[in-house]
Amino acid sequence: MSSNGNAKHVKVLVLGSGPTGYSAALYAARAELKPVVLTGMQLGGQAALTYTIENYPGFPDGVGGAQLGELFQKQAEHFGAVTEFDMANGVDLSQRPFKVTTDSGEYLADSLIVGTGASPNHLDIPGEVELTGRGEVVVVGGGDSALEEGLFITRYASSVTIIHRREEFRASPILQHRAKEHPKMDFILNTVVTGVIGTDKLEALRLKNVKTGEETIYETDGLFIFIGHTPNTEMFKGQLEMSDLGYIKVNDRMETNIPGVFAAGEAADPHFRQVVTSAGMGAAAAIQATRFLEAESE
Ligand SMILES: Cc1cc2nc3c(=O)[nH]c(=O)nc-3n(C[C@H](O)[C@H](O)[C@H](O)COP(=O)(O)OP(=O)(O)OC[C@H]3O[C@@H](n4cnc5c(N)ncnc54)[C@H](O)[C@@H]3O)c2cc1C
Repeated sequence: MSSNGNAKHVKVLVLGSGPTGYSAALYAARAELKPVVLTGMQLGGQAALTYTIENYPGFPDGVGGAQLGELFQKQAEHFGAVTEFDMANGVDLSQRPFKVTTDSGEYLADSLIVGTGASPNHLDIPGEVELTGRGEVVVVGGGDSALEEGLFITRYASSVTIIHRREEFRASPILQHRAKEHPKMDFILNTVVTGVIGTDKLEALRLKNVKTGEETIYETDGLFIFIGHTPNTEMFKGQLEMSDLGYIKVNDRMETNIPGVFAAGEAADPHFRQVVTSAGMGAAAAIQATRFLEAESE
């Protein structure tokens, strides 16, 4: 890392400290490129928010999400990756080195790997906040996260009701099976939450059946929302090509439309959105970034 004025000049700058970011950093570090990882607000990414991950290979008994994040970080740092607790808030990709402004300063990067992942969507209803409760709680959503977290919450709650706007779940069959068999879990289908009732604490939700239009009040002590994610790519709009939903467009080498800028994981992947796939894409991006920098120096 070298300084130009106040800007730090690095060969590889990795945005994000989730599975994508640290996997990319591991590969770039082993290529002796001394990558710098900007953590963003969530060290370890979304994976670190998960109680247990059962489908990351190599951990037959599952592994804690936060623990896996720490292992990713430790392994990348062992080979020379540098972690900075900093957040990128602007990029200029019009010329190289790429300029990245952060909360604490500025970086000049010969290559950039975007692993900024995704953030949870909100319900967009008045009074919406996620409220934890230990009695009868509601989980909104129908994907893997909703059912997985719902099953986890059964440890603390006396009952967990899954509210889902469709008839069918997107979640994987193993989770659907576990949820349907679980004695503490109930389901309200074809239904959306339209409002939150309660002053100091959550008392009830306003529900609407999307098929019949019927509106009801549902008493509950807690609300957890898992209704999908939006990629954290706003900062790249107008510079990197992206889909209508904001996923950065990459080819099968994780290359974006700008040579030297690579994107991987949930920032670029609307399809798989798993720890193992994100880590794989992060590795691929770093291998390609290494080749890109090598080709230049030949
Ligand atoms: C509740 C829940 C349960 C899940 N369970 C599983 C599971 O069991 N198995 C599984 O395989 N997957 C699971 N997933 C999905 C998995 O966590 C994600 O696919 C994976 O974390 C994506 O990795 P990523 O690195 O691309 O993005 P993220 O994990 O989203 O990480 C993004 C990183 O980018 C950083 N960042 C964002 N903006 C900036 C910025 N401007 N500057 C710098 N850094 C920035 C963030 O701080 C974060 O470190 C789960 C997800 C959730 C939400």
